[in-house]
Parts: sequence; C-alpha cells; structure tokens
Amino acid sequence: MINANASTAEPCGPSRAGAGRACHYNAPMMNRFRSWGGFPTATPRAVLPMAWRDAPLRLELAGGPYLPFAMGRSYGDSCLNDGGVLLDTLPLDRFIRFEPRTGLLAAEAGVTLAQILDLVVPQGWFLPVSPGTKFVSLGGAIANDVHGKNHHLAGSFGRHVTQLELARSDGGRQRCTPTENAERFAATVGGLGLTGLITWAEIQLIPIPGPQIELEARRFHGLRAFLDLSLNTDEADPYTAAWIDGMGRGSRLGRGVFLFGRHARGDGTWKGAGASPLRLPMDLPSGLIIPAAVRAFNEVYFAAQARREKRAFADYNAFFYPLDIIHNWNRAYGRRGFLQWQCVVPHDDSGAAAEAILDRLAASRLAYFVVGKVFGDRPSPGLLSFPRPGITLAVDLPNVGERLMRLLEELDGMVVQAGGAIYPAKDARMSPATFRASFPQLERFRSHVDPAFSSSFWRRVSP
Ligand SMILES: Cc1cc2nc3c(=O)[nH]c(=O)nc-3n(C[C@H](O)[C@H](O)[C@H](O)COP(=O)(O)OP(=O)(O)OC[C@H]3O[C@@H](n4cnc5c(N)ncnc54)[C@H](O)[C@@H]3O)c2cc1C
Repeated sequence: MINANASTAEPCGPSRAGAGRACHYNAPMMNRFRSWGGFPTATPRAVLPMAWRDAPLRLELAGGPYLPFAMGRSYGDSCLNDGGVLLDTLPLDRFIRFEPRTGLLAAEAGVTLAQILDLVVPQGWFLPVSPGTKFVSLGGAIANDVHGKNHHLAGSFGRHVTQLELARSDGGRQRCTPTENAERFAATVGGLGLTGLITWAEIQLIPIPGPQIELEARRFHGLRAFLDLSLNTDEADPYTAAWIDGMGRGSRLGRGVFLFGRHARGDGTWKGAGASPLRLPMDLPSGLIIPAAVRAFNEVYFAAQARREKRAFADYNAFFYPLDIIHNWNRAYGRRGFLQWQCVVPHDDSGAAAEAILDRLAASRLAYFVVGKVFGDRPSPGLLSFPRPGITLAVDLPNVGERLMRLLEELDGMVVQAGGAIYPAKDARMSPATFRASFPQLERFRSHVDPAFSSSFWRRVSP
C-alpha cells in the first residue's frame, strides 16, 4: 500500500511495499519537473515515484494535493503542482502485452510513445493518433486527449483507448472503458490528471505498410485556400497540417505550406528512436530568437516551396516529429521561457474568425511559427477534451511579459466570441471565465475530480 505523507519526505527510491515514498530529488533532477515552455515556474513540495502499478494508492488528503507528472511536455501549468506533491509516473515503464495479430497494446502509463513506436513499427503497426512529439507518455496522451495530423479521420487519442485502470486516492481502483464506468472514463480522458492516477491503459494500434511516409507539400495563399485544401482531403491523405507564416499581413496574410502524408512501404531500412544528434546545451539568451531572423526564415521556407507540388518519402520521425531532432529546443527561448497558445474556432467557408486572429498575431510581431489544422467532426470522448470541429491554430510566443499577456487576453476574447476554446495542455494564463466558456461540460466533470488531486492550472482556472 502506498501510504504517502509528503511532509515526511525522505531519500527516494521505489520500494516493494508501495509504489513510492515521498522524495526530494536533487537540484538537477528537480529540473525534470518543469513544463515545456518553462513558464510559469513551480516548486513541488515533494515527488513520489510510482513504481508498482498494483500497489494500492492511499494518499492522505492533508499531505497533498497530488498530481501525476510524466514527461512534462505540456507547455504551461497543467502538469505543475506548486507547493503540492507530484506523482512521478515514469517508473511505470513496463509493457503488459502486445498482440501483433490484432494490434492491441497494453502498457503502464509511464511508457512513452517513442518506446511504443520502437516496439511496434518493425512489426507493421503505428500509433492511432500522434502529437508533434513522441516524448510523451501514454498516461499524458490520455490525460490531455491529444490530437494529431489525422484528426479529420481518426479523431483524438482517447477514441482509441479500449480500457484503462484508474487508481484513486482512497485506495480504490477502477477499470474504465467506453462502456464500463463510462462516465469516469469520459472524465479521465482529457481529465488533466485530476481524476486519479492512470496506472495502465490499452490502445488499438493501426496497421501500416512500412516505416516511411509519402508526403506532399503545397503552397497556399490565404485562409480560404487553406480551408479548400483541408476540406477536400480524403482517406488517401490521412495526415494533414499546415505551416502558416505568422508574420504575413496584407497579401501575405494566411499564406503557408500545406503538408499531406500517408504511410508508405519504404525500403525496409529505418532507424529507431536512437540518440538525437542535436541538443541545446543550455538556456540561451532570451533575445536570440529575434523577429528579423524569423521573418527571414519564413521567407526562405516559403520560397523553398516554389514549385507548386513537392513529393518525397521521409522516415516517419522526420514527418511526425521534426522538432524532436533537437532535444531541449525549448531552451532557445531563454530563461524567461515561452508560451504556446492554441485555440480552435468554428469556421464557415471563409474562416473569418481564424483570419482575424492571424492578422492580430501578425500585427503583434511576436508570432513566429503558426501551425494550422482543420479538426474533423469525430466526437472527442472526454468531458474536457479540447478537439472539436473547426480550425485550430497553435503558435509559440516568447515570454516578453505584460505585453504578451495583454495580447493573449485579447485573442482569448476573440476565440470565446467565435464560440471556440483554448487548449489547457498549452496554457499558462487563461482566465476562469475563458476556461468555463471553452468547456461547457465542466460542471459534469467536477464531480469526478479526486478530492486529493489538484494542479497549479486547476487552482488558477477553477478557484
Ligand atoms: C513539441 C511538442 C509538440 C506537441 N504537439 C502536440 C500535438 O500535436 N497535439 C497535442 O494534442 N499535444 C501536443 N503537445 C502537447 C503534449 O502532447 C501534451 O501536453 C501531453 O499530454 C504531454 O504528455 P506528458 O507525458 O509529457 O505529460 P505531462 O505533461 O507530464 O502531464 C500532462 C497531463 O497529464 C497528466 N498525467 C500524466 N500522466 C498521468 C497518469 N499516469 N495518470 C493521470 N494523469 C496523468 C498530468 O497530471 C498532466 O495533467 C506537444 C508538446 C510538445 C512539447
């Protein structure tokens, strides 16, 4: 039994008697417990390693609040728990079973998507949905109900979870599926780690002909053209996404490069996750990413797509996870960190709301790289799932302080006005009112929150 009382913290290390003991990591280790954007910073009071999935979780309410923490690939504070106790899920790193005939895979929640790919790609299977980094845990992918480039066909990650086990702070355990404990399942998928600890989960993989992706890139000019390309793709193009010039205004507003991809047989040679050759050694001075350099990059990138169509084959890593090649690229934004802002807005034929948002971003001269995608109409299973039909825009913004906060507040207002939502996995500052407007099922969700669990994000948006 885990009978954790974080106030009696002692040197850490998993023990058979429980999934973990309250633990003080040394300073370099504590660095692991920050979020990807580096903003805001938060200091947990203690960290409990979760080592054994079958050890009952019994957490004392007064010793908390508790929050699962995995790879910290959330950008803002949804994975942070300032002053509270983090449940480190990475020791839960075992595969439970994989059936190469059916593609059903069960694994502990700390297993990463990279580890899953290493196991299943050589056997002809792939993740049903993948975010833009594979350094994400299975539990984290479920708790944010992540989406990928195939949302228009596959919907969100949670649609492919066939079952999961949830450990609650009172020592109880529940097997949840879309039909058994269905309401708890719906609260846990996209539930931001607040309904308890996911100990393991089972997902349905998809078959692939080989490890490569056949891709095609097409330039487009403006949001209307982006929508035409997005809405006219079919099953032959399971993956689509666009890079949009975040600084283009006037005739350059909404221009970009549209990427299509499909699994291909390839030549049979492929490289697993392996070590990444590039790694930023330190936090760079925050002025390094400057508007002039980014504008120049955008010009070169757009010009490089000069031919109307480009077809190529790429390793799946290059197509799905281009940013993973540079480990710690987030540090290029310096010590003040950066924010990612991601919204979804419903669209008509012109994409007017998204266009207005892009124009405002471009005017700010802070928006460098925007990624756009049209979400399809496959319903997301979670009460707090972010994906819904509409245009989603994601943008990285350097943390320049108050000026940025005012801009994002204004953009939130445009999103709410349009009937859209802000993505909690990327958020560090939205208001309680914006959160409520984004998630109409919030009240239904509330009753599933484990009384001993909370997060910096939850305390901020749901005071
Ligand atoms: C480069 C990059 C690209 C990205 N691209 C996308 C994208 O395309 N689409 C998208 O949707 N997201 C994307 N993301 C966001 C990322 O996929 C999510 O934030 C993901 O949830 C992070 O998983 P994690 O394992 O790092 O979890 P963490 O960030 O550590 O935690 C995330 C949440 O999951 C909860 N949690 C973690 N483990 C458990 C568990 N075992 N039980 C219960 N709750 C748990 C935590 O409490 C927290 O609320 C991207 C992030 C990066 C850095």
